[in-house]
Parts: sequence; structure tokens; C-alpha cells
Amino acid sequence: MTRVATPGEDVRVAFVGAGPGEADLITVRGAARLQDADVVLFDSLADPALRQLAPKACWIDVGKRGFSGVPHAPRGGRENTGQDTINALLVKHAQSGARVVRLKGGDPSVFGRLEEELEALAAAGIECEVVPGVTAALAAAAATQRPLTRRGAGRSVALTTAMTKAGELAAGRHADTESFYMAGKQLAALSRRLVAAGWPAQTPALVVSRAGWPDQLASEHAIATLGDATVLHSGRPTIVTVGVGAAALGAATLGAATDDARAATPPAPTPEAAAPAPTRATTPTP
Ligand code: SAH
Repeated sequence: MTRVATPGEDVRVAFVGAGPGEADLITVRGAARLQDADVVLFDSLADPALRQLAPKACWIDVGKRGFSGVPHAPRGGRENTGQDTINALLVKHAQSGARVVRLKGGDPSVFGRLEEELEALAAAGIECEVVPGVTAALAAAAATQRPLTRRGAGRSVALTTAMTKAGELAAGRHADTESFYMAGKQLAALSRRLVAAGWPAQTPALVVSRAGWPDQLASEHAIATLGDATVLHSGRPTIVTVGVGAAALGAATLGAATDDARAATPPAPTPEAAAPAPTRATTPTP
């Protein structure tokens, strides 16, 4: 195993979690790394306001629509990307003596292709550090004021992507609360997969898009009616939280963590559940 640099040590490359939304959701340590940076390789989801933290650095867009603004063409059957280009850029800039920040949306360790970039640096003998960030599932919980764990009722949380590497949709049942990333375009299919995986149809489901941004939106559903959220959240980064952590406060019953009782209580009828109108997550009805 490669030696892991201790925080504050003089390392050339820092992977920094930008947080899920507005610039002030970055950590203080992440901001400090940006301030010291000569080069910042960033993803398109990051808030442009973060540039103010590193005004003199060279900012390079390596998001999926990076460089030219055109999505990277699939190569050799691989799903994206400029991943090889990103790896090469990281190594090149670090070897040139620059201080490099690799800025990633949310937390770098959650669905962030971090392993490939760590491997590329390790192969080149370059030390790095990882500065955590607020992952989207946590921002969605904060936006809706629905805690992911509930004392006595929700003891486990799973961060899951419904998309397989082959681009197929898959869903299971891994925890009392499960947060699904990258499923926003396929909510109706996700609904069917969840029921097939054994989640009771009336299990609460929360859909939150652009969590952590001023225009964040949230809507609540039962798993069976998740497809109803499609139009509201269309084209926006979306988290789907299902299970105990999606329930209204007080509706997650004690003992729901046991298998039998995991048929979590459906959400209490609230104005936003009853009406199809968009719900501003900033005014939740816990
Ligand atoms: N590393 C990121 C996840 C990257 S995968 C993190 O820790 O949050 C990209 C997926 O994350 C999106 O498809 C979406 O499901 C989710 N996502 C990212 N930002 C989001 C946001 N502000 N609100 C809701 N979902 C978000």
C-alpha cells in the first residue's frame, strides 16, 4: 500500500471535495488547498464562485463536458471519458512542480472515479492527499431536514448508484435508508426495480435535485409513484432517498430497522405530497 500523506504535509496534489452545491459548502481545509494551488482541475458540477478562492491558479475544466464543452466521445467501448486525459494532466502538472488541486463535486471518494486517479499518481510515484467534502446524499438530507439515520428505526445507510458500469439500471435493498445517485433520468424504472428488489411499494421516497444550491427542489413520494418526480427534476443532478431516512419526522416508527417492520411508514400527507406543485426544499414540512 502506498504511504498516505498526513494532513498538512507538503504534497503536490490534493483531491478536494467541493461539496454538492454553493461554494461555501466546501471545507475550510479544501479552501486552503485551493488558495495554495497553481493548477485546478475541476468538474463541471463545481460552483464557479470557487474560483475566487484561487484567482491566480490556472483552472482547467475536465468535467464530462470539459475542454471544448462537448461530451467526450466513448472510446473502445468504455463508458466515457477523458479519464485517461485527466490522469495524464494530473501527473504532468504535478511533475512540473505545480501545486495541483483536483476538485471534485461532493466528496471525492463517492462515485468520483477517485481510484483511477489515485492509481495514476501512485504509478508515477507522486504523493497526494484527499480532502473530504459533503456528498450529495448528505446535502439532500439537510435540504429536506430528514435525517438519514433515525434513533431506534434507521440504523444503516447505503450510498448506491443505480447505474451499472454497463449502463444498466439495477437496484437492491441494502440498508434501512438507501440513497441513489445517478438515477434521475430513470425514476420510473428505478421504482419498478425497487419494488422487485423487495421494498414495499408504500416505502417513502424523497427526490432532491440540485441539493445545496439556491434552486434546490424536493418532492416526496412512495416508491411505487417515484416516476411522478421525473418532470419536476428533469435535467438536474438528483438524489433519490428511500426508506426510513425519507420518512417525515415521527413517521419512521420504532423498530423499523427490523426486517419485518422495514416496510416503512408512508409519508404523512403534506401539501407537497398531495399537490404536484414543485416544493422548495428550503421550506420543508418535516
Ligand atoms: N462525488 C459526488 C457524486 C458524483 S456522481 C458526491 O459525493 O456527491 C454524480 C451524481 O451525484 C449525480 O448524478 C447526482 O445523482 C448526484 N449529485 C451531485 N450533486 C448533486 C446535487 N447538488 N443534488 C443532487 N444530486 C447531486
